[in-house]
Amino acid sequence: MPIYSHSQLSIYQDCPLKYKLSYRDRIKRDTEGVEGFLGTMVHQTLKKCYDDARFTRLNRLEELLSYFDNIWQQNWHDLIFITKKDLTQEHYQALGRKMLDTYYRRYAPFGSDTTVQTEMRLNFALDDENKYKLIGYIDRLSRTADGVYRIHDYKTSAYLPSQEQIDSDRQLGLYHIGVLKRWPDVRDIRLIWHYLAFDRELVSSRSDEAIARLVTDTTRLIDEIEAAQEFPPKESGYCEWCEYPDLCPNRKHFYTVEALPANEYLNEPGVALVNKYAELREQARVIGEEADKVKEAIVEYARREQVTMIRGSSHQARVRFDKKLKFPGKNEVERKELDDVIIQTGKWPEVSQLDTTALSRIVEEGLWNKELITRVMKYGRIEESGAVYLSKLKEEE
Ligand code: SF4
Repeated sequence: MPIYSHSQLSIYQDCPLKYKLSYRDRIKRDTEGVEGFLGTMVHQTLKKCYDDARFTRLNRLEELLSYFDNIWQQNWHDLIFITKKDLTQEHYQALGRKMLDTYYRRYAPFGSDTTVQTEMRLNFALDDENKYKLIGYIDRLSRTADGVYRIHDYKTSAYLPSQEQIDSDRQLGLYHIGVLKRWPDVRDIRLIWHYLAFDRELVSSRSDEAIARLVTDTTRLIDEIEAAQEFPPKESGYCEWCEYPDLCPNRKHFYTVEALPANEYLNEPGVALVNKYAELREQARVIGEEADKVKEAIVEYARREQVTMIRGSSHQARVRFDKKLKFPGKNEVERKELDDVIIQTGKWPEVSQLDTTALSRIVEEGLWNKELITRVMKYGRIEESGAVYLSKLKEEE
């Protein structure tokens, strides 16, 4: 079984296709988002800060910022992309400087604990048989004078999670396990996230029960990944930073046509078809609304004039006035009472029929026992169908 990391597991949960392209097919891309680049540069600078501090060399803030500027310039490359249109490389570099500045002012001279290691690599297994192997890197592991081990993680994201999210975070929970495997005598471990953009330190810890739950959930997830046969794309906000738009059925067409000049773009068969379909759908909507209004007017006319047939030039309209018996619909309050009355009198089979949509869902989600699903599946068949859902592009909203 391969060695997993927290980010690998997260990518699978965020989008199975991206996971497959990245980790199963091992398709490497040279592009990277500016946010990732910013994070790497800030991490490297803080690593230097603490590595030097271990040798009693305290960097001045200006020295650290100058180090940051240097590595920024040396490592910047043309394949770094910025998705936010009104921001530039300089904005991100200034943001990095600001984060380092606030961090420095909060923690200098960095003596509240002793750094055990920076960028510490952890290899460990979740089980005694060494089947579920994990790898992780702790940004900084430290130890306080009273023996508390602190797992520090620097975050440069523009999102500040809640305490509840931090308390159930998988990444540092797994690192907690890794530290315990390395030093089983450690009694007290704190998990500390430094949200640099907010000058916030979030702290959590894990009980034995929480760790046991984490092991169960993680091994279950790894089993699911190992057994996966299909890796469908899963659209989310992360698509903006995905390195595989050209290989993703959800993004491929956008990626291809957005690079075309305007005249070729409009003639591209897919673009032309969607434009035509959208135009016809809009016409149909307007016509449908109009037809409904005219139909209502015909019924009104027939009621007023007390006629049931109305003559036009080439068509005639028959109007039928019906009285229908109605019972509460599925979502109405009295529906359950009505169902109960019929079920209790044993008449349910006479008025109900099999809901094949519900049955498909039950089988697909494996909600019944295997034996029953196998029996039911004798009557099931897989049919491929195509459906088109039209929606407005974001820019046009
Ligand atoms: S573009 Fe989105 S849906 Fe497609 S592979 Fe990437 S993350 Fe998944």
